Amino acid sequence: MAGSSSRKSGVDTPYRVGRSRTGLGLFATAAIARGAFIIDYKGRRISHAQAQQLEASGARYVFEINNRWSIDGSSRRNLMRYANHSCRPNAESDLISGKVILRAIKAIKPGDEITYDYGEEYFELFIKPVGCKCAKCASGPLKPARTRRSSAKRSGIARSGRP
Ligand SMILES: [Zn+2]
Repeated sequence: MAGSSSRKSGVDTPYRVGRSRTGLGLFATAAIARGAFIIDYKGRRISHAQAQQLEASGARYVFEINNRWSIDGSSRRNLMRYANHSCRPNAESDLISGKVILRAIKAIKPGDEITYDYGEEYFELFIKPVGCKCAKCASGPLKPARTRRSSAKRSGIARSGRP
């Protein structure tokens, strides 16, 4: 909580963590070309059994590499974990020699939120029950399922959906 490691300068990464519609997100700070590598998923490698254990206790940053290994990406150094899910993403995750990476699938402009598709399994497990809040789902004709566990949100702030 107290960590104020502001060693931002010197690292020329084309992204930063910022506020998104759903909390925090990963945003481009420079133009990223289509196909360009963006970031990799940092964390310790854990076995399938450990991954299942972590997930059973609510961990959401377990990235499965294959049916033996996963990466526990819960470390704060793992900035890729801030990239949110989108059903119309501008990046994709890929596996390159045992490493999970994020790559642009569109030209990304500075200020754009960097998103990728978390995959069907994660979607079914974590996103669908509360409704997808990605830009596509929030603005599309299909209303996402109503959030059930937002007890704190009931005071009538008008839907800000109108573009
Ligand atoms: Zn969506």
